[in-house]
Amino acid sequence: MSRVLVVEDEAHLAQGLRFNLQAEGYSAEIVGDGEAATDRLLGKKENFDVIVLDIMLPGKDGFSVVSELRAARNYVPVLMLTARGRPEDVVMGFAAGADDYLPKPFDLSVLLARLNALLRRMSWPRDAGKNADKNEAAPEDLAEFSFAGRRIDFDALELHTPERTIRLTLMEVDLLRYLTRHRGRIVARKELLEQVWHVREDTDTRAIDNFIVRLRRYLEEDPASPKYLQTVRGVGYRFMPNPE
Ligand code: CA
Repeated sequence: MSRVLVVEDEAHLAQGLRFNLQAEGYSAEIVGDGEAATDRLLGKKENFDVIVLDIMLPGKDGFSVVSELRAARNYVPVLMLTARGRPEDVVMGFAAGADDYLPKPFDLSVLLARLNALLRRMSWPRDAGKNADKNEAAPEDLAEFSFAGRRIDFDALELHTPERTIRLTLMEVDLLRYLTRHRGRIVARKELLEQVWHVREDTDTRAIDNFIVRLRRYLEEDPASPKYLQTVRGVGYRFMPNPE
């Protein structure tokens, strides 16, 4: 049985969620603020399979909660609940380390579908695809991508560099997968928002730059003058695995 932690201060919404999650066969527990969430997850080191995390909480907000989890190397999948009409919340949430989001008000069936998708992805065997014949795999289905001494393992959610192994979030992996599929070509910020984040609203696309900054810290020898993940001024980005 998958165990869900609902972090939500609106009691009626939280209880409705728990009721419906339990009806769907999940074990669901509620905490009403961010402090209680980090206490359960980091203080008491309780294990949950997925977290439903509201952004607007009394005291510590949802962004802080997910940031603290990731800083403590806790990679439990996090689905954030964002206020309607706040696409910048979506981008900030992903930048903080969330794996998915749902705008409020949401349809329960959509929430359950998203939770199931997160659980399914996390249950993939870490070594899935490792033994696949890479000559037969289409480029877009590669289990990993290697360049310049680095190796992105899409299934294990890991980036191996000569110095270290970095644990990636699902969204970081999706973004890297998109950039590697479209390597060598300019990818507009708007395209990334639509194709990777599935955000269609008119969003301030500059917010995505913070996310790229983080990937550069992982990938680049000198993040301040990137070689592989290049900025194309006024347009977007270009991933160059073999820059000249
Ligand atoms: Ca709230």
